[in-house]
Amino acid sequence: MTDLNEHGGFGLDSGHVGVQRYSHALMGTYGTPMRMLERGEGSYVWDADGNRYLDLLGGIAVNALGHGHPAWVKALTEQAGTLAHVSNFFATAPQVALAERLLTLAHAPSGSRVFFSNSGAEANEAAFKMTRKTGKGTVIALEGGFHGRTMGALAMTHKPAIREQFEPMPGGVVFIPANDAEALQAAVAEAGDDLAGLIMEPIQGEAGIQPLTHEFLAEARALATRHDALLIFDEVQTGVARTGAWFAHQLHGIQPDVMTLAKGLGGGFPIGAVVAFGERAGTLLGKGEHGTTFGGNPMGAATALATLQAIEDESLIANAKAVGEHIRGRALEIPGVLEVRGEGLLLGIGLAAPHSAAIAAAAVDAGFIVNPPSPDTVRLVPALTLTTAEADSFLDWFASYVAANPLTDGEQ
Ligand SMILES: *Cc1c(COP(=O)(O)O)cnc(C)c1O
Repeated sequence: MTDLNEHGGFGLDSGHVGVQRYSHALMGTYGTPMRMLERGEGSYVWDADGNRYLDLLGGIAVNALGHGHPAWVKALTEQAGTLAHVSNFFATAPQVALAERLLTLAHAPSGSRVFFSNSGAEANEAAFKMTRKTGKGTVIALEGGFHGRTMGALAMTHKPAIREQFEPMPGGVVFIPANDAEALQAAVAEAGDDLAGLIMEPIQGEAGIQPLTHEFLAEARALATRHDALLIFDEVQTGVARTGAWFAHQLHGIQPDVMTLAKGLGGGFPIGAVVAFGERAGTLLGKGEHGTTFGGNPMGAATALATLQAIEDESLIANAKAVGEHIRGRALEIPGVLEVRGEGLLLGIGLAAPHSAAIAAAAVDAGFIVNPPSPDTVRLVPALTLTTAEADSFLDWFASYVAANPLTDGEQ
């Protein structure tokens, strides 16, 4: 048994006490934490009581290299000791190199530009402001879409339960059902000359890993071009090699005008980015029109560069594809698993009954961290370094759990 007093020096003597004190000191926005975690290595984390878990959630698609990857740690600590932070009145080499690297990976045409933020919501805020700079006011967003919790990002997020109590929202956003080309055409016609942008996730993450169809994405691309509006792909969850391509839109060969990134980009260090494709999108936000104190700071940029480099050096795109396919094949053999949605290591296991919360709770007791984004979906967004053997240890447990607790209809 280990404790935080020994190992962390924070004066908390057990996970149980830690969670109790958490609820008195922190706002209740996340509910009661499942465990108090202390350290991680690769795809494993340990709690404050010394129990080990296979982390198939990866900090919600963040820990692309797993925990404590040596190249990532080296980049962060070296940069911290060299130059940790400067204001955006100055440039730094890691920031310039990262922007250039993203433009290259995205096959962005000349004139394209990057803006760095600290999070996904903030990247989408910047994208939202870019739509306003077109001089037009209507933005089409999708039901099931999730773009973040700040007011602008929330205004483009459909889910009434998390949005409505914070109204009034910034205006101009209309929602249509995902993958409904007719509804899209009707909304575009309704917006007329006022259509400023369309925002969508190529695979809707928080909705339970719901992919948009190629046809729908192609229609959105065509309509945005025809109406001189910005097509914004929110790749905060799908981006940075998670789907078996650097960016999910590359699986479709459909390039947006604006792409937002965060989650996996820094491999665990908070950093987000807006990639604006082409001169027009790239120059919509000019001097004094947007900014942030921390965005693109040297530590964030250095860790993001190290993350991208390790993905390349260790062929993690190929690994995400191979391990993802392995998981899909085995999960589909489990009775009551109807489908496995998503690509690469962005997977939603679709169940015949709404048991995902019970499965996630039983999994953590058994030493596996998974997440139930919707009642009938178990989400896996592990490190891109996950091995087949690690995946199998979860699938073996999952199969035996389902054998004992069949996924038949009804609440459990
Ligand atoms: C997580 C997420 C966001 C919000 O990112 P934060 O860093 O939590 O602000 C936005 N869009 C998508 C698709 C996400 O998955």
